[in-house]
Amino acid sequence: MLMAEKNIVVMGVANKWSIAWAIAQQLKKAGANLIFTYNREKSGESLRKLLEKEGFGDSTTISCDVTSDEDIRRAFEQIKTIHSNIDGVVHSIAHAKSEELGGNFYDTSREGFLMAQNISAYSLVSVSRYASEIMNDGGSIITLTYLGGEKVAQNYNVMGVAKASLDASVRYLARDLGPRQIRVNAISAGPIKTLAAKGVSGFSKVGDIVKERSPMKRMVLPIEVGNTAVFLLSDMSTGITGEIMHVDCGFNIVSY
Ligand code: NAP
Repeated sequence: MLMAEKNIVVMGVANKWSIAWAIAQQLKKAGANLIFTYNREKSGESLRKLLEKEGFGDSTTISCDVTSDEDIRRAFEQIKTIHSNIDGVVHSIAHAKSEELGGNFYDTSREGFLMAQNISAYSLVSVSRYASEIMNDGGSIITLTYLGGEKVAQNYNVMGVAKASLDASVRYLARDLGPRQIRVNAISAGPIKTLAAKGVSGFSKVGDIVKERSPMKRMVLPIEVGNTAVFLLSDMSTGITGEIMHVDCGFNIVSY
């Protein structure tokens, strides 16, 4: 029960395929008390059905659109009223125009570029600000990133640049919150079939490339990302902050 008596906010479960759901399941097994936030009402509905079906019935669900600072502030204030303090946050949120996840990067619109940055990178900054106000010292914040922020990945384009921004934000936030022993880290997950991933052109072929070239000759499993999240949110990782931890069956280490 590594997470017993810890209140963890999980942001970004849209359905049962969401990485945030795999993380939530492992956190629950480790004894965490979970609070969920969702964006679209459709996601809220499927989240509530999932929670009911999988025996998470008593978990709090709160709406939160990360494009609005006011909404983020309100969500964490609501969480404070119900749970008083929190010990961790899972930020598993990204979005870009699907038509800009393919073709030439130079065709990215200004609006699409700013939207991807806003939802996929700036949101972690704002979430960390409001979450840290109600977080116990020694807490932990994690986000989900992708190799496409470090290296050029086919069709990832505007999201790759947003992930680079997210990765840098993790380091600056780790510096800000370090004196309170609050840690900020990212999991760089290998490709996993989710709603967001299906938006990237040619995503289905990426799996074959990973199976062929990764040291472990397979794709990462959602449960493996979930277990790493438990580690980073728990007191087993109190000396780790500002890290981008690859959970990708080693794909990132291979050149040719
Ligand atoms: P997903 O299930 O589609 O999750 C994306 C989440 O972002 C959804 O819950 C979505 O909610 C939320 N979101 C989008 N706009 C939002 C907004 N304005 N406010 C609040 N939430 C918003 O896909 P996923 O693959 O699990 O993605 C989770 C994270 O993992 C993302 O950061 C993604 O880049 C990262 N990641 C994914 C992979 C992969 O291969 N799948 C690999 C590495 C990293 P709504 O649907 O309600 O808008």
